[in-house]
Amino acid sequence: MIYLDNQATTRCDPEVVSAMLPWFSEHYGNPHSEGHKAGDLAAEAVENARAAVASLIGATPREIVFTSGATEANNLAIKGAARHLARQGSERRRLITVATEHKCVLESVRDLAAEGFEPVILPVCRDGLVSARDLSVALEVPTALVSIMSVNNETGVIQNIETLSALTRQAGALFHTDAAQAAGKMSLTCASSDLMSLSAHKFYGPKGIGALYVRHKPRTRLQPLFSGGGQERGLRSGTLPTPLIVGFGEAARLAQKALSGEAPRLEGLRAQLLEGLERLFPGLVVNGAQARRIAGALNLMFPPGYAARDIMAALPDIALSTGSACSSAEITPSYVLTAMGLDAKDAARCLRLSVGRFTSTPEIVQALEEFGLAAREARRAS
Ligand SMILES: *Cc1c(COP(=O)(O)O)cnc(C)c1O
Repeated sequence: MIYLDNQATTRCDPEVVSAMLPWFSEHYGNPHSEGHKAGDLAAEAVENARAAVASLIGATPREIVFTSGATEANNLAIKGAARHLARQGSERRRLITVATEHKCVLESVRDLAAEGFEPVILPVCRDGLVSARDLSVALEVPTALVSIMSVNNETGVIQNIETLSALTRQAGALFHTDAAQAAGKMSLTCASSDLMSLSAHKFYGPKGIGALYVRHKPRTRLQPLFSGGGQERGLRSGTLPTPLIVGFGEAARLAQKALSGEAPRLEGLRAQLLEGLERLFPGLVVNGAQARRIAGALNLMFPPGYAARDIMAALPDIALSTGSACSSAEITPSYVLTAMGLDAKDAARCLRLSVGRFTSTPEIVQALEEFGLAAREARRAS
């Protein structure tokens, strides 16, 4: 199988797996059990990993709260911040986000409407970018929080976070960014955000672990989602999964080390893939801003007459996606692409392809050969 679905998830790096293994069966102490060696050892491993994750985004270790992934981190950031402000008696009720956000952000914001908050969903332009003007207008009403993703999971488009967060802060609101698709793939700083969500499995770490960056100075205050033992500075109760956290830390270390070499390599593979596909499918269109795109990611609209589902069905040995993995069971068109102005018919011709750390040049050559066969077959059928 040729895996071109690295935006859905990535293969766990073998070095990450080796780093994790001893923490399952040899060093299995509870990191919250202080005073005996097994617990202390686990706690130390957790703190080492926390430092590595913090370093990846330029944070301090105390600003990292481990969660089960970016879904939980997004829920904690948005609901936690909004509920804290409400409890403080704040008059700020507006929550601003964007139509192309991950479902967990959109649903968190919409769920808060039932608690008296006012959700505002900003549109995007054809290139997938949010307009600073639209945000400024929305911020004219006192706003509790703005949540805008750093990189989109379907298109790979990079938002202008610095500008958007500066506008947000001028308006006295908190700024959260879902950086699940950015972390480990581009240089990333937490400096412009009050809250930032991360997920290990998007950059060669294990599934089921992520983190929320919670700014310390000035401190971003949150109401926790869970009641319990008060772990993670009271923000996330539950026993920390030492093996997953060690894997997350190792993935962060590897990503930080590999970053400068990996991005150009992925850009090269992506260019090779795109050039080949443009030859096979004249009239192919790249969805989303070309100049502001994470290395390795492509979202393509095939020429009229081709259906994404048919292309996918003709390529059983290539892992691709017609939209976000979470909604691919539905037949509805991708809401990300329709928010960018595509109609349902256009969206049905779109595929997401993404190369990653383990993609090789021969695999791209092989994938292009298979795409060529699929193209000929589709033409014959029509
Ligand atoms: C994958 C992803 C998520 C969800 O992360 P999990 O760790 O799988 O919960 C959220 N936002 C974006 C942008 C993602 O790509």
